[in-house]
Amino acid sequence: MNFLEDYQLAGNEIEIFKYPNPVLKKVADPVTEFNDELRSLVKDMLYTMYQAPGLGLAAPQVGKSLRFFVMDTDYLREEISDAQGNESYKLSEFNPKVIINPLFKDHEGQILYEEGCLSIPGIFENVKRAEKVTVEYQDMWGKKHTELAEGVFSVCLQHENDHLDGIVFLERLSLLKKNFLRKKFLKAQAMA
Ligand SMILES: [Zn+2]
Repeated sequence: MNFLEDYQLAGNEIEIFKYPNPVLKKVADPVTEFNDELRSLVKDMLYTMYQAPGLGLAAPQVGKSLRFFVMDTDYLREEISDAQGNESYKLSEFNPKVIINPLFKDHEGQILYEEGCLSIPGIFENVKRAEKVTVEYQDMWGKKHTELAEGVFSVCLQHENDHLDGIVFLERLSLLKKNFLRKKFLKAQAMA
């Protein structure tokens, strides 16, 4: 079993910090050590993302101000519960990506896509993004890669990369819409 296949068996669920936690506003630091500690955090973040479920999860969202995120825009997930009634999940298809120290090279076109965020649960809104992006990044072993992304994959890369710069998707909306959704979210949180 390879590393990315066994996260769903070996991962731990970790706390996702909610908006407006200050860690979500910080500009994150580059990853400089590609060690087991990093890979263990990646595994837990993937497990937590699929558990939620969500399409992406950035390190600042779990309280680590580091420039990396995990994502998967292409998976099939099934809820399972054991004899004690504990809820879990099983993935029959998945395509996890671990993007470390991303650097965007090219932006092309425009796409409007309805986004949500695990740090702002219950809030969804159309956001304008580049349709295609080229990104350079490192993997968990520090190896460099370049990828051309489009559609949902491109949207997700840009959303997660914003988290590394202390930006949540509400900041990409008009001030009016941002304030409305911000209030709506804070009110719902207060009542929860
Ligand atoms: Zn997000």
